[in-house]
Amino acid sequence: MNRKVIQNFYLYGAKHEITVNKVLLIISVVGFTAMLSCHRNPITGRKQLTLVSEKEVQSMALTQYQHFLTTNKVVPVNDNNGEMVKRVGTRIANAISRYYQNQGLTNALDGYKWEFNLVESKEVNAWCMPGGKVVVYTGLLPITQNETALAIVLGHEITHAVAGHGRERMSQQLLAQGIQVAGDVALGSNPATVGIFDQVYAPTAQVAVLLPYSRKHEYEADHYGLIFAAMAGYDPREAVPFWQRMAAMGGAKPPVFLSDHPADADRINKLQELMPEALKYYKPTP
Ligand SMILES: [Zn+2]
Repeated sequence: MNRKVIQNFYLYGAKHEITVNKVLLIISVVGFTAMLSCHRNPITGRKQLTLVSEKEVQSMALTQYQHFLTTNKVVPVNDNNGEMVKRVGTRIANAISRYYQNQGLTNALDGYKWEFNLVESKEVNAWCMPGGKVVVYTGLLPITQNETALAIVLGHEITHAVAGHGRERMSQQLLAQGIQVAGDVALGSNPATVGIFDQVYAPTAQVAVLLPYSRKHEYEADHYGLIFAAMAGYDPREAVPFWQRMAAMGGAKPPVFLSDHPADADRINKLQELMPEALKYYKPTP
């Protein structure tokens, strides 16, 4: 046993020692907890902290999605753009199912009930909540300009959901804020966890604190988003001019979408690097 004192400190006048043993104990407890609450994402193969179950976040997403649709103006499906959003979204979702089937992961999308809605709003934004609940804002369409660029955005946003990025960020926030989540307790009835959910998924720009995706999440969403768009029959090369158009939108009042999706040279360079792999999946629809 190593009782070597690393540091002394005083708390309320009492002397305390930090020994090697104490440090090792803390490391092993934290490590063990993290190990128990990690799982490997089937798309990215990366181990993620998962303190909340997929079923729980899907249930919260359903509530928030339904609330969002009743408090915003949904563009009807007989509108050309409303129809396009459903068509592109369905093609991307089918591509993801095929991707999983090819890997023998047929139950990876358990609980997913895809919905794609175009919503009347000047915001340049789109998102996908757990369980496949997707919204595109009409304000995005002047920037996408064509169906292929819309597929690039949806491929990216849907990847955030299927790669469990929101769930991972929620778990990190729960840990950071010291909020205990036990078993099957309904997260949707806890104001603290609902608050974190809103900060992570930020369905509107009105959310005061938006927790941005990390660069790692952004890279994964770009990487697999390109592959899914390509598998769905959309030319992944459209990602480059699309992100260049996004970059041109910066300025004094950049859209909320840019706050967690920086459209800089680094992103565009990385997209170029990913292109040869994505093109292997691309078969243009006749
Ligand atoms: Zn993103």
